[in-house]
This record gives sequence, structure tokens and C-alpha cells, in this order.
Amino acid sequence: MITAVEREVSVNLEAVRQSIRAAAERSGRSPEAITLIGVSKQQPEERILAALSAGLRVYGENRVQEAEGRWPRLLQAYDGIDLHLIGPLQTNKAKDAVALFDSIQSLDRPRLAAALARAMDALGRRPACWVQVNTGEEPQKAGVMPAEADAFIAACRDEYGLPIVGLMCIPPIDDEPAPHFAFLAEIAERTGLTGLSMGMSADYEVAVELGATHVRVGSAIFGARPGHGPAG
Ligand SMILES: *Cc1c(COP(=O)(O)O)cnc(C)c1O
Repeated sequence: MITAVEREVSVNLEAVRQSIRAAAERSGRSPEAITLIGVSKQQPEERILAALSAGLRVYGENRVQEAEGRWPRLLQAYDGIDLHLIGPLQTNKAKDAVALFDSIQSLDRPRLAAALARAMDALGRRPACWVQVNTGEEPQKAGVMPAEADAFIAACRDEYGLPIVGLMCIPPIDDEPAPHFAFLAEIAERTGLTGLSMGMSADYEVAVELGATHVRVGSAIFGARPGHGPAG
């Protein structure tokens, strides 16, 4: 017996995968070059279990504590899960993040780089790191400012010895996302980074057309987050 929730999540997942394939083909890219990250933050466990049953193995969470409440059990029960931290990380949570996540996408300041380097040494685990760039230069938003991005990326590699694999951005809510995605791709190109984490439920197809290697899709797979609406 398949439940209504299992059916809904697996239909959504297939539709998103299909749209990614179509966007990749439109832009002459291989669909295999794009990783779909299912953003499970704030979702009921039933929906995450449905996605796991449908074969999704890559997940994104935006809070360390919330992820710690859910994923250790699921990691015991399912093989091959790849867990990404996509939300802001406090320095005092760096060790917890290194212990749980396979990728940390929100690296954006020297103190955090230093804390991650220390945590990696202490734990003997080296999650892939992504530098978040505040492409819209929004004061309230996380991410390194574009003018400081190149120097910060160099410091992360050379000074802190972190495994930097790519860049991440969240465009301003009211802006056309395409110029932000193109801008992020440009910074990655000139700094020799191949990973591009960009695109959410509303704009992942545009992101794929502009070179995203990882798209972070929540509500289009799992449905609206309870109590927060689609953007919450
Ligand atoms: C919540 C969130 C997403 C997913 O948002 P949806 O609109 O539900 O797809 C992607 N990236 C980050 C950083 C998020 O916090």
C-alpha cells in the first residue's frame, strides 16, 4: 500500500527531476551534471520518509539543531545519504556541523573558516565547503560580499586549508534571479571552482540553464512548509 503522501512526494520528485532534465537539455548540459538537493527543513517526517522511499538521497537542512533532531536516526536506517547544511552557521556550532554534515554551504567569514578548520582537525572529518556569496549585497543576508569573495576564497584554501568545492547564493527575493546566477558562475569561473549551488523551487530551471551543479528544492518536492508558507 502506498499512502497519499508517498504518492504526492514521489510525483513531485519525478516532476522536478523531469524539469531539471529538460532545462539541462535546453542548455546543452548533461542532466547527470546536476544534483538535486531536497530541502527537508521544517517538513514533517512522513514527507521525508516518502522521499527516501522514492530514492532521494541528497538532503538540505538550514539549522544544525533541527538536523540533529532528525538525521542521526535516518542515517542509521538508510545508506548513502548526502547531507548539506544550507543555512547560516554560528561559529559555536561549527563542530556539530562538521560532525553531521557532508557539505557545508554557508561559509562566509574568516572566523567561521577558522572554526571549521579546527573542528575538522579535531574530528578527522572533512565535509566539502561552499562559500556563500551575498550577490545582492543585502545587509541582513548571510554571505561574503562580492568584492571580498576572491580574497576570502583564497584565504579559505591557502590559510585555513579547507576543501572548497564551490559557491552558493540566494538571490534577493524581489530580484530577477538570472543575473545573480550568472554573476555567481562568473566568480566561480575566475576562482577555479566547479560547484555552483543555486536555484530553489521557484527558479531552479533558470539556475540549471545558467550552470547550477546543485539545486536546492524544498516546497516543490515536499509541499509548503507547515505554518511558514512556500517562502518560509
Ligand atoms: C528553504 C531553502 C531552500 C528551498 O526553498 P524552496 O523555495 O522551498 O525550494 C533553498 N535554499 C535555502 C538556502 C533555503 O533556506
